[in-house]
Amino acid sequence: MFNKRIKIKELLTQEPNGQEVIVMGWVRTFRNNQFIALNDGSTNNNLQVVVELGKFDDELLRRITTSASLKVTGIIEPSLGKGQKMDLKAATIEILGDSDAEKYPLQPKKHSLEFLREKAHLRFRTNTFGSVFRVRHALAFAVHKFFNDKGFLYMHTPIITASDAEGAGEMFKVTTLPVDGSATRDDAGKIDFKEDFFGRATNLTVSGQLEGELGATAFGDIYTFGPTFRAENSNTARHLAEFWMIEPEMAFYDLEDNANLAEEFIQYLIKYVIENNKEDLEFLAQRLAEEEKQLPQDKRSEMGLIEKLEFVLANSFERLTYTEAIDILKNSNQNKKKKFQYEVTGWGMDLQSEHERYLVEKHFKKPVILTNYPAAIKSFYMRLDDNCEPGKQTVSAMDILAPGIGEIVGGSQREERLDKLEARMKEMNIPSEEMWWYLDTRRFGTVPHAGFGLGFERMVQFVTGMTNIRDVIAFPRTPGSAEF
Ligand code: ATP
Ligand code: MN
Repeated sequence: MFNKRIKIKELLTQEPNGQEVIVMGWVRTFRNNQFIALNDGSTNNNLQVVVELGKFDDELLRRITTSASLKVTGIIEPSLGKGQKMDLKAATIEILGDSDAEKYPLQPKKHSLEFLREKAHLRFRTNTFGSVFRVRHALAFAVHKFFNDKGFLYMHTPIITASDAEGAGEMFKVTTLPVDGSATRDDAGKIDFKEDFFGRATNLTVSGQLEGELGATAFGDIYTFGPTFRAENSNTARHLAEFWMIEPEMAFYDLEDNANLAEEFIQYLIKYVIENNKEDLEFLAQRLAEEEKQLPQDKRSEMGLIEKLEFVLANSFERLTYTEAIDILKNSNQNKKKKFQYEVTGWGMDLQSEHERYLVEKHFKKPVILTNYPAAIKSFYMRLDDNCEPGKQTVSAMDILAPGIGEIVGGSQREERLDKLEARMKEMNIPSEEMWWYLDTRRFGTVPHAGFGLGFERMVQFVTGMTNIRDVIAFPRTPGSAEF
């Protein structure tokens, strides 16, 4: 049997008292032919394996190189050296897999994040990515725990869809038709998707929301947590072509209930990681502090990573309407001095990320929930607000903006009134015949309901302090890049 090993994380919680153990892992460093720093991925802390001089033959010792995998048995003793509380005094060392030191791409030194992106298959073996991906895991677990504890049903919405949920972005086509130009065309010269696998044009989903609404209007509260795809050609530090989204959808909720849930959810996730991933967070906080030392003073964060997270827990999010936000932005010195790239012209304009960041980072200095946007810049399914000023029709939408990230959540109360929804679809050229199944929820027992989408990677970025979204997903898909 292979798996009588103890994980290093667990071992390090024990007191060293001569216990006999089996550990397995990868060599981080081997010093003086005597001290192996062994890591097994359960923690960034290595186990120091002490190799007694003369006990093992040179041939074996030569094979203990960075990233070689080992099985070591021996006795745990209090460490004589500083820096660790225990040593494993090796009785047997078995090389499970050699690692040619000349060829192994990662050196035991600091590599840039950009370099490590090109070695994404091995970057998990570094401290930074060890911490990031353990935190990512914890967050994913906490997502399920949060909703399960509240009685939400986890719903798997389809990845291949025929609908563009919200015109949210460019979609990836899914087809088995030949791409060499030989696909059958209709009379108008367009590709005839009746010939295609599904008998119609299909795409990778941009959101599970519309199907989620079908669930909510039967189960009450549901959430999705799955991959979503956007073929938007935006090469930013916050956009991926493939990202994971959490989309709760709740019957009998209005916009305020929705905002309350989103705020509670985000705070819960942060709290979970602070309580369960202290070591990794401390490592990431230190990493970020060092990274920020390279920046000019005015670009550095005012708070450390953990301080920032604790601040978000301790303070409620600022809530204001789009209309109020426009006033603040318009009257800001930043705008008057024309320091925004996009001038704030007034009500009706879409906010650029520089405007969102100004509100969050300069004006309020905390997460902000912006609500009630102009209908014209939001999706068809968002509920029209009643009693709006003429010419200023708004919808019950909300965006949550986080410091350093920008938009982290987008959501709304949904339009539950069939006549209003149909009118809006017509206005926005959404083919309602194809959406008959969606409209049926409004025909048969419609209810006020609401929901939101939290971009999982943006949440991981926020908690880990990683500045580039490519560094919080295992194998990032971005324009021009789908390696691994
Ligand atoms: P943005 O304006 O930042 O592009 P969006 O308005 O397109 O966001 P939504 O369509 O509301 O975003 O999607 C819901 C959430 O999904 C966003 O709040 C964000 O957290 C996340 N998200 C959206 N697009 C991406 C992307 N390309 N990569 C990673 N996360 C994304
Ligand atoms: Mn977008």
